[in-house]
Amino acid sequence: MNKTMTVLVVEDDMPIRNLISTTLKTHEYKFLTAKDGNDAIMQASSHNPDVVLLDLGLPDIDGIEVIKNIRSWSNMPIIVISARSEDTDKIEALDCGADDYLTKPFSVEELLARLRVTQRRLSYQNQAAVSESMFTNGKLKVDYAAGCAYLDEEEMHLTPTEYKLLCVLSQNVGKVLTHKFIAEKIWGSAWETDIGSLRVFMTTLRKKIEKLPDSPQYIQTHIGVGYRMMKVEC
Ligand code: CA
Repeated sequence: MNKTMTVLVVEDDMPIRNLISTTLKTHEYKFLTAKDGNDAIMQASSHNPDVVLLDLGLPDIDGIEVIKNIRSWSNMPIIVISARSEDTDKIEALDCGADDYLTKPFSVEELLARLRVTQRRLSYQNQAAVSESMFTNGKLKVDYAAGCAYLDEEEMHLTPTEYKLLCVLSQNVGKVLTHKFIAEKIWGSAWETDIGSLRVFMTTLRKKIEKLPDSPQYIQTHIGVGYRMMKVEC
């Protein structure tokens, strides 16, 4: 995997910014740094980094505003860094278009793992442009045009809701999706009852696609936040 990815680090807290920068340097990533939101927007637009690591609590403008601004002109991956007390902020950030999150305090290993997930997603997206009607991930295939899914070359028997759920996840592979986002895509609403139903459909879908539903390979649970389909290596 090539590491020529450029990371824009947006963090006003100097020790954390230095820790991240040192980690990136050690692991041969290229990086830029920004100390506040306006600087982040400027650097993102002038340098077009491959990924943005964005602290939500910034001294000038809120991190959410930075996401909204970047999303108005770019799909570059944004990984939000949030404090544990900012759970609702994290969910809002994902709903505004962030791709993933890290919760403070995080380890160097967690940071590197998130960057690898993003890299896999970027390289997948490049290939995906070739075939937009067919999604392939490990042993899973979704034929969007035909409206069916396959596991291990065998057609899966999915209910219409399970299929929709699978499509929402596969079309956003690598991205953490909030319960609200998924429920709205499936039912057009996100009431508490929809989110309750979502859990039920997720359980039945998992039984069909995961070999070991208790240690899922394809769909990760983010407790209190939502779900993510992982890019599985073949
Ligand atoms: Ca901060």
